[in-house]
Amino acid sequence: MPEQSGKVQTVLGLIEPGQLGRTMTHEHLTMTFECSHVPPAPGDEGLAAAPIEMKHLHWLQQNPYSHSENLLLNQEIEAVKEELLCYRKAGGGSIVENTTTGITRNLPVLRKLAKETGVHIIAGAGYYVDVTHSDETRKMTVEKVCLTDIIVSEVLHGADGTDIRCGVIGEIGTSWPITESEKKVLRATAHAQTQLGCPVIIHPGRNKAAPGEAIRILQEAGGNISKTVMSHLDRTLFDQQELLEFAKMGSYLEYDLFGTEMLNYPFNLDVDMPSDSQRVQALAFLIREGYEDRILIAHDIHTKHRLTKYGGHGFSHILKNIVPKMLSRGITQNQVEKILIENPKQWLTFK
Ligand SMILES: [Zn+2]
Repeated sequence: MPEQSGKVQTVLGLIEPGQLGRTMTHEHLTMTFECSHVPPAPGDEGLAAAPIEMKHLHWLQQNPYSHSENLLLNQEIEAVKEELLCYRKAGGGSIVENTTTGITRNLPVLRKLAKETGVHIIAGAGYYVDVTHSDETRKMTVEKVCLTDIIVSEVLHGADGTDIRCGVIGEIGTSWPITESEKKVLRATAHAQTQLGCPVIIHPGRNKAAPGEAIRILQEAGGNISKTVMSHLDRTLFDQQELLEFAKMGSYLEYDLFGTEMLNYPFNLDVDMPSDSQRVQALAFLIREGYEDRILIAHDIHTKHRLTKYGGHGFSHILKNIVPKMLSRGITQNQVEKILIENPKQWLTFK
């Protein structure tokens, strides 16, 4: 049995699950997102290249992926540190940092931030979506020179040439349709989870069939679905019946784009991005249907413009604004605590 059993693994080492406190299960503290750059609309090239300024803030909020500098969250370590101190003051305890190979994971920075702010940070093992896979990754098999071994080693020994160990696998990136290279990574994830008894978190493609398909691949490879989080449901599953069908598969159900309100979602123009009010309605619906043990929430901050330094909502938005809204919409204090403390704790504790 690995030493992680019954514990949570942070970038500073193992902790007791009861030490986590309120936990955001899907955030990024340092990363790059150039893989998802969207060319600006004709006529907007100047805005897209200009420094970030107050008078362009609305444009930036509506076109966050068209501004190259906005995609470099790794340039904002000091601002993120300030945010984490505010997050602690607001009652936050822990953050799961989902940056995986392909979007510039930086474990030494995470360790420094954890030391300097007192926020528990849990890092992610594994690989982001196909466009970020290296040729080397593509050539690897699940079993021989081996994706599974690399993921296991990132959890047991440390990642990126450091001794800093990941405490979850993911976010594991998948596109739609799921590519062959992504299927391999999903199978390796399931095999690594079987060896380690660890938490897993998946980024689904932008199609309503994507979450179910990713879970089926994990299941067939022996993964533990009850210890797996499906991210980004707020931009993926809209129909209540389809949501309930998916919920029956048994994964955690994550609404992790709190704070994101935009007219056009450039990665899938068919999607109407919900508002925060609609996200709270979805949580209330899932609770009524009996899924309060399965819900997790977060902001998935991954660009500069969502930091308070750039007029954004920051890492404390859920604690400061969404929790009161949840309470005002009939979700009880007990249910809120379950979503923020108990469910993340159950998920993050190694078997
Ligand atoms: Zn993410």
